[in-house]
Amino acid sequence: MSMTNKDPLLQEIIELDQQYYMNVFGERSPLLFTSATGSWLQASDGRSYLDLLAGIAVNVLGHQHPAIQQAIQSAASKLLHCSNLYYIESQSRLAEKCCQASAMDKIFFCNSGAEANEAAIKLVRAYHHKKGEQRSRILSARESFHGRTLATVTATGQAKYNSIFAPLPEGFDYVDFNDIEDLKRKLSPDVGGILLELIQGESGVHPVNQEYAEAVAALCAEEGILLIIDEVQTGIGRTGAFTAAQSYGIEADIITLAKGLGGGLPIGAMLAKAEVAAAFSPGDHGSTFGGNPFVCEVALAVLTTIKDKNLIPEAKRKGELLKSSLATVDGITEVRGLGLMLGIELESDQAIEIKEALCEAGILVGSVGTRTLRILPPLTISDEELGCFAEKIESIITK
Ligand SMILES: *Cc1c(COP(=O)(O)O)cnc(C)c1O
Repeated sequence: MSMTNKDPLLQEIIELDQQYYMNVFGERSPLLFTSATGSWLQASDGRSYLDLLAGIAVNVLGHQHPAIQQAIQSAASKLLHCSNLYYIESQSRLAEKCCQASAMDKIFFCNSGAEANEAAIKLVRAYHHKKGEQRSRILSARESFHGRTLATVTATGQAKYNSIFAPLPEGFDYVDFNDIEDLKRKLSPDVGGILLELIQGESGVHPVNQEYAEAVAALCAEEGILLIIDEVQTGIGRTGAFTAAQSYGIEADIITLAKGLGGGLPIGAMLAKAEVAAAFSPGDHGSTFGGNPFVCEVALAVLTTIKDKNLIPEAKRKGELLKSSLATVDGITEVRGLGLMLGIELESDQAIEIKEALCEAGILVGSVGTRTLRILPPLTISDEELGCFAEKIESIITK
């Protein structure tokens, strides 16, 4: 790539990465970001890029947001870490905010989405175990993504992620996405939980149907099965409500959050209804880093800013705005998703070429397979920035 030759720093870092970093990410995009502000990343090639991926739904307030910078400075000057042997002010205040925003009763903090889902799986098993019931089986959807730990990669219904790690943990089974009949067929007496994304992100931004979401929630309530909604990507306002469960108007027993919660710092959370949460007794679960004073204070600033700046209804409005400006573009057959979690389906197998052309034009998007572009912009993105994307993609596609 010609660009890399002109940039000695990028060249050096690529060589170091190839020599020392385990090759799990394959060949990365040849870009090295050195700073960022708002929706824009500055690369070592001297160019600016409009960031429509936000670190995969992480940078919900964009980059270098003053509220985050201020929280980081304030938290860093007080206390980074003290362990969960002691009470932690920002942890308790964040717990209250998260529970209220998502209409759940209790929370546990960890460091990532996978850990949050891992905790959810443990809570489901503990819940039934303590009721003296043998209901350890967890159902999840095909084409789902739930993380990389052994349990969550097993729950991830895609062989490409887990087949080489056998023996996988027991007690998992899979249902066809959006197919209530298949779910009914898989309901054996040992099923204790259903783990579901309401919009499958990694596999191409596929939302479940409204009827399916309601039917699953009703079925879970009837059968005493715990409904776990994986909101790691859909949570924190992304879909135009604090959680996608709220967007769909359904109630979960357990939800998991991560990506956007720390605005760029690693934090995950598992939330549950009181009766379910009560299954964890002292010693049943824990974390060294989870919920530490520093990260919680920053996450608190993220949630406060989202509320003060009205970013959740704005995410909904901006998503609809972008959907309507893309609706008339020839070569785009569908724009799926809710709020600022959108998949753009193309007429031809040119997702990678179009992604690269957009990058060349200074706009970063993701692609899934050969026909889908994926965007997860910061919730703070402006109408003008979205308009600039809509114009560029139209001109690229028509060429
Ligand atoms: C990203 C993601 C995860 C995994 O989160 P990590 O922080 O990478 O462990 C789990 N579930 C969903 C839906 C995700 O999008």
